[in-house]
Amino acid sequence: PEVTDTPLRVEGMSKHFGGITAVDGATFEVERGTLTGLIGPNGAGKSTTFNLITGMLTPDAGTVSFEGEDITGLEPYEIADRGLVRTFQIARELQEMTVLENMMLAPKGQRGERLWRSVLPVARRDVVDQETELLDRVWEILEFFEIEHLAEEYAGNLSGGQRKLLEMARALLTDPDVLLLDEPFAGVNPTLERRLLDHIHELRDRGYTFLLVEHDMDLIMENCRHVVVMHQGRILTEGTPEKVKADEEVIEAYLGG
Ligand code: ADP
Ligand code: MG
Repeated sequence: PEVTDTPLRVEGMSKHFGGITAVDGATFEVERGTLTGLIGPNGAGKSTTFNLITGMLTPDAGTVSFEGEDITGLEPYEIADRGLVRTFQIARELQEMTVLENMMLAPKGQRGERLWRSVLPVARRDVVDQETELLDRVWEILEFFEIEHLAEEYAGNLSGGQRKLLEMARALLTDPDVLLLDEPFAGVNPTLERRLLDHIHELRDRGYTFLLVEHDMDLIMENCRHVVVMHQGRILTEGTPEKVKADEEVIEAYLGG
């Protein structure tokens, strides 16, 4: 696929549920190596947009393209295999397993080891034994998120924030280029929220691209270079936090509900 500065493009995308127009002709792009924030009040259509991009839902109109290819209507696993990956909540069965078991059972990227491996010393990339290699990588990622001391802890015993770190850690094992996070800070205490944000910024510095869906406007304004604002299914405006913050329609949408 062609490599561009905008791996993810959404064009004229719409989704109706019965009489409700959840997403109404949304068009926007996500630039490579950035944190892009998708914000809007409750019911704006953010989660629907997220589900349309990741293949959990199929749009009634419009297209989603990834790395220059039309991925509209592909199955979620096909989209993930291409490197466009979302996080998943730790399922009930997995809560009775340890953090390490959760990692070993996570879906693996089919596209070879790329970005994550590229930060490792060259000597370590030559490991032949696949199990050792996987365990190595799992450990590396747990250490990155500073949860390696929780490896033997049951996932069900983790705090809300620690669980979010594990969800991100599992997503990284699939070898993504672009990560989509829907309200990753919900139920996370301020200390862990900061840590989660620091990890996201560091991964961005390593070349990963993020689309953060969030209704907390301040959080997105402080952390994203590009902000897309949704309201009643439409893209109200987009741009830098400064531009968006000053937009009368945005202020109205948030205050007017
Ligand atoms: P947000 O994530 O911004 O809060 P959503 O995308 O969840 O917004 O919802 C947008 C609109 O679509 C809301 O009016 C919501 O009630 C409606 N909606 C979302 N999912 C469904 C569904 N599966 N069936 C019917 N209506 C839905
Ligand atoms: Mg939502």
